[in-house]
Amino acid sequence: MKDFSATLISWYKKNKRDLPWRDTQDAYKIWLSEIILQQTRVEQGRSYYEAFTTKFPTVKHLAKAPLDVVMKTWQGLGYYSRARNLHATANIIVSEHKSVFPDSYVGLIKLKGIGPYTAAAIASFAFDERVAVVDGNVYRVLSRYFGIETPIDSNTGKIEFLQLANELISIKHPGTHNQAIMEFGALQCKPQNPDCLNCPLNASCAALAENKVNVLPIKEKKTKVRNRYFYYLIIEDKAKQTLIKKRIGKDIWTELFEFPLIETEKALENKELLKKIASFFGKEKITIQKISESRKHILSHQHIYAQFVHVKLESKLKKHEEYKIIKSKDINSFALPRLIDRYLHG
Ligand code: SF4
Repeated sequence: MKDFSATLISWYKKNKRDLPWRDTQDAYKIWLSEIILQQTRVEQGRSYYEAFTTKFPTVKHLAKAPLDVVMKTWQGLGYYSRARNLHATANIIVSEHKSVFPDSYVGLIKLKGIGPYTAAAIASFAFDERVAVVDGNVYRVLSRYFGIETPIDSNTGKIEFLQLANELISIKHPGTHNQAIMEFGALQCKPQNPDCLNCPLNASCAALAENKVNVLPIKEKKTKVRNRYFYYLIIEDKAKQTLIKKRIGKDIWTELFEFPLIETEKALENKELLKKIASFFGKEKITIQKISESRKHILSHQHIYAQFVHVKLESKLKKHEEYKIIKSKDINSFALPRLIDRYLHG
C-alpha cells in the first residue's frame, strides 16, 4: 500500500491549491480552518479564515473576545453551536492548558467541540502524528478505489473505513498524506464527474474497473427533512426603532438575533397570518407595509420557508422582557442568521 500513499502525495505536490492554512503548523490556526471548512467550501472558507485570524490572531485573543463578536464573525456559516464551542474551547485552552494546544490526538479529542476528524487533522497537520483523517472526501476515494460497498454512514462502515485509512497512512509523512487524500477527493475523485481519465490511480481503481464510479460510496440512510414556516415581523416605530430577540435553547441559531417570530408547522393563509400579527400587537395601532415573498432556506435536516412582514407602529415601542429595542439602522451590528442577513441585504 506504499504506492497508494506515494502516488497521492506526488499528485498532491503537483496539484494542491495554495491555501493560507497550509502555510502553517500552528495548531490554533489549523483548528480554526478545520472548523470553518466543516461548514463551507474552500473559497468562502478562506475569507472567514482571514477574518478570524485577523481579529483573533491567537487562541488568547479568541478566548478574551466577547461571544457576540465571535458569533458576528461566524455569521453566515450556519451551525452556530460550532462557534460557541470554538469560543468555549479557546477558554479551556487558555485556562487549563496555558494557552497551548495539546500536541496529540488523545489530548485533542478531550476538548469540547473537537471530534475524531478534527483531532486527527490537527494532530497530523501540526504535529505529524500518524493518525488518519476520514472526511467525506476520504470515504469517497477509499470506497471507489478499493470498491468497498459498505455504507459509509453505518457503524460497520465507519469502523472499516477508519481502519483502512489508518493502515494506508504514510509512516514518514502522515500530515501530507492526509492533506493529499482530502485534496484528491476534492479535486480529482469528485462526487460528480471524477476525472478518471487523468487519474494517477486509474490502472488499479476497483470502481473504475467494475463500472461503479457513480454508485460508490453507498449511503444507507436518507435524511428526514422537517418543514418549518417562519414569519418575521420587521417592526418600525415612530422613533425608527425595531425589536429583536436572542435565540436561546437547543434549536437552530442559538445566540443569534432575530426579529419577532411567528412560527408554524404549516404555511399560513393570508387571513390566518393577519390574525396572528394582530394578536401579537394587541391594541397597538399598526400598518402592514409589505409582506415579502416566501423564501426557502435549506439546512441539513430542515427546510425553512420564511416571509418577512414589515410593520409600521404608530406609537413608540414599549419595553418588553423578551425583546430588545434597538435603532433599526443598528441591526447589522448584531449576529444574525444568514436567512435574515440575506433578506436585509438582497
Ligand atoms: S479512477 Fe476515478 S474513481 Fe478511481 S480513484 Fe481515480 S478519479 Fe477516483
